[in-house]
Amino acid sequence: MNFYGWNKLSFLDYPKKVSTLVFTKGCNLRCPWCHNPSLVKYSLMKKISEKSIIDFIKEKNKNQRWIDAIVICGGEPTIHKELLSFLIKIKEHTGVLIKIDTNGTNPHLLKTAIRLGIVDYIAMDVKSDLILRQSKLHEEYLKSIDIVKTANDYEFRLTCVPGFVNEENIDMIMKPFYGSKILYLQQFHNDSKMIDKIMKEVEPFQLEQLIKWQKKFNKCFNKIVIRE
Ligand code: SF4
Repeated sequence: MNFYGWNKLSFLDYPKKVSTLVFTKGCNLRCPWCHNPSLVKYSLMKKISEKSIIDFIKEKNKNQRWIDAIVICGGEPTIHKELLSFLIKIKEHTGVLIKIDTNGTNPHLLKTAIRLGIVDYIAMDVKSDLILRQSKLHEEYLKSIDIVKTANDYEFRLTCVPGFVNEENIDMIMKPFYGSKILYLQQFHNDSKMIDKIMKEVEPFQLEQLIKWQKKFNKCFNKIVIRE
């Protein structure tokens, strides 16, 4: 399996762990606010082999454990059928924790990874109905919610994008996730590249709006946290 981006050391992407963050190419959705357009749209990018990533972790952890985890994000990692065999190799050769960031459209792969014990943390996006309606993946997405809840550790995260999340649809967006361990309400940022340039003109919600939703849905989740 090949990767197309690599942040060798990250202190943010796996909760309370030092991780190495790798990016896969391609995605089966097209969220206009996506901050990784080059990965999603298959622009020309330099390939990074799985061997170089495994060798890097082994080398870093040779005398002392510097890297606790690998985080695999995209694009959408689960559209790649070779992902499972990569996860197995990571576990066999490095023993580090594995986190997958996903849009939840491949429940079968997520279920298999959990069953095989080759994923330790899953972060799944909560998507607006306005995005899912354009794809034929709504049922898969719904199936993934229950599967992710069976992972060792997980989070759900909703990026609050004006025009896609609002007072009218937020109940419907949130409902399938009720009872989850943790949900992050993420602030939308318009200050970097996005798939749809027009999103640059969209002003993020005021923090007060996110706090209002946090209070409104507080009882529906074990924990609901705002990520600015
Ligand atoms: S935000 Fe995630 S799901 Fe949406 S297009 Fe980007 S990579 Fe795909």
